[in-house]
Amino acid sequence: MTKQHATLDWASGLPYSTQFEDIYFSIDSGLEETRYVFLKQNQLPERWQQPDLKQFTIAETGFGTGLNFLCAWQLWKALAPDKARLHFISTEKYPLTPQDMTTALALWPELADLSAQLRAQYQHLSTGWHKLMFDQGRVTLTLLIGDANDTLPQLHARIDAWFLDGFAPSKNPEMWQPGLFSAMARLSHADTTFATFTSAGIVKRGLQAAGFHMNKVAGFGRKREMLSGHFVAGESQHAISQAARVLPNNIGNKLPNVVVKAARAFPNNVGNKLPNIIVIGGGIAGASTSRAFAERGWQVTLIERHAELAQEASGNPVGVIYPRLAGSDAALGRIALNGYLHLLRLLNKLKLDSDDFDLCGVLQLAFNSREVTRCQGIIAQNFPDGLVQWVDAEQASNIAGIALSHGGLHFPSAGWVKPRALCIALANHPNITLQSSTAALKLQREGELWQVLDAHGVIAQAPYVVMASANDTMQFAQSAHCELEPVRGQITLLPASAESEALRTVVCTEGYISPATQGMHCIGATFSPNDTSLEVRESDHQANIAMLNKLAPALKLNLTDKLQGRVSLRCTTSDYLPMAGPLLDSELLASNPPRHNAAPASLPWLEGLYVNVGHGSKGLINAPLCAEIIASALCGEPAPVDAKLLAALDPNRVLLRKMGLKRLALGFCAY
Ligand code: SAM
Repeated sequence: MTKQHATLDWASGLPYSTQFEDIYFSIDSGLEETRYVFLKQNQLPERWQQPDLKQFTIAETGFGTGLNFLCAWQLWKALAPDKARLHFISTEKYPLTPQDMTTALALWPELADLSAQLRAQYQHLSTGWHKLMFDQGRVTLTLLIGDANDTLPQLHARIDAWFLDGFAPSKNPEMWQPGLFSAMARLSHADTTFATFTSAGIVKRGLQAAGFHMNKVAGFGRKREMLSGHFVAGESQHAISQAARVLPNNIGNKLPNVVVKAARAFPNNVGNKLPNIIVIGGGIAGASTSRAFAERGWQVTLIERHAELAQEASGNPVGVIYPRLAGSDAALGRIALNGYLHLLRLLNKLKLDSDDFDLCGVLQLAFNSREVTRCQGIIAQNFPDGLVQWVDAEQASNIAGIALSHGGLHFPSAGWVKPRALCIALANHPNITLQSSTAALKLQREGELWQVLDAHGVIAQAPYVVMASANDTMQFAQSAHCELEPVRGQITLLPASAESEALRTVVCTEGYISPATQGMHCIGATFSPNDTSLEVRESDHQANIAMLNKLAPALKLNLTDKLQGRVSLRCTTSDYLPMAGPLLDSELLASNPPRHNAAPASLPWLEGLYVNVGHGSKGLINAPLCAEIIASALCGEPAPVDAKLLAALDPNRVLLRKMGLKRLALGFCAY
């Protein structure tokens, strides 16, 4: 939990907020109130019984105990078509601690099964966005931890129904602000409805000004009245222009394009056949992208030039799982945290062999004053202890099981995984066809399709292609403008000594050492830009050992005459952020340069072509989240990260920056 959690008084047996001096749910019956106010007045029972329903998105202000979410999930299970997907987004400023959540939900035995599933994933909820998945992805919960007035303007989604909860306006006037209503208008469409327990004038007037039509209905229990209604598109211009002002980089001055496009491409009545997609590259980026689409029912062709998956940068025997957080709220730190938590949930779902991973914890040592300052900045962000905590050198040594000369950050849930085993598990899905030993060399457009060619001709075609081919992405004319750079990295495999066997966690500084598995430690990795040689070098082994001596000087190593190692080329970008999103046609852009304020929809997009690349040494952490971002966007689902982060990942940013059009780099927000 974020340390800014809800403070509750349980004197009456029901949760009471001491921060807001208000109750979480009705004393009469919280369950019945939720069903009446939010489910019935949004007409969810009728809307969810439509046989052609494909997906439905709810957004809520105030997650609280999760009661509304659980009631919606229960109804969805009972009524919605089997293959339809429910997306529930909820924003919460003060999340309940897991303990309070357990006490609160114990009040509803009929929800016990669903609440147990929610509680199992309800952890590490730091400020930021968290996407939890249930029922094999049939139900997703995106928790936006933060103030609704900050989070909703950053949301990229198309909302079908609003649950306006969040304590009474008299107790919580800060939430019921014009910015909330204008964000609602920006995210709504002609069939969007809303419901709220309150009938306060400030809410009524705010919603009306933002373009919502109002019905006054009888309230639940002792409440005389409540409000429900629907959005009337076209009446919201005022609200949209207001939203535009609060968003950076023009993100807010239009309805979310990608969801409108996706809705056009796959309207609810599209039939049961989902499109095919080709993914190029069988490393962690390609395997996780394939999996994200396969789980949504798409047929995926995964093209890999080697005979097996994960033969290049994803082929190291050990990959460290931990987030390299930033001392500030920078994009690099935020993607690291989101990606890390996404990977932990993915690992939990995939159930790899116990030999293939170990969440043994990671210590990140603060070995110089710059690192100490960075770590202090991280600790000052008040992350939950279960996520990261500061430890001194003695505590660090006790945790690690070997003597360490520096303290630093401890990530108790972090660890390591064998990246190849992870890639194989990800690609092991009935909707994924692996086409190995196949070198994709060229892409060409043929009507509505992309054709992938090898040296002999067309090998596959589909309306959608995701290039997850790391540095090779530069060889395709369409993506050469991404300007990806290879950086050589060598790891060293060291036989464990009697002393080093005691190491229980991964320890990292500028490099890392993993605990011994099958008698070997993995240490690494060197960082050599402008060097594409794949030869294993003695000098690089020595550099790794020097790094290790600095990290744990007391550790007696077992240095054999002939050290083993492995070299691979990371794929990096100049700003160290990955690239995940749709591609622009650089030739058309150059021949007809747009103005700096051009409408994103007017830009020359390479329809159906995307990349998931540029992960550097952080592919394990970043690539699966980028896969989720791409799949969510193409399926018209809510984005799992905020609009600023989507913009930071725009794969056209180098191209646009060079043309002086930096502000047009909006990633999926623009597409
Ligand atoms: N929907 C909840 C449930 O099912 O249990 C009950 C919500 S409770 C009545 C109101 C919630 O709104 C509290 O959890 C409170 O922390 C949250 N909240 C209040 N102001 C907020 C704000 N500005 N942004 C986000 N959440 C807020």
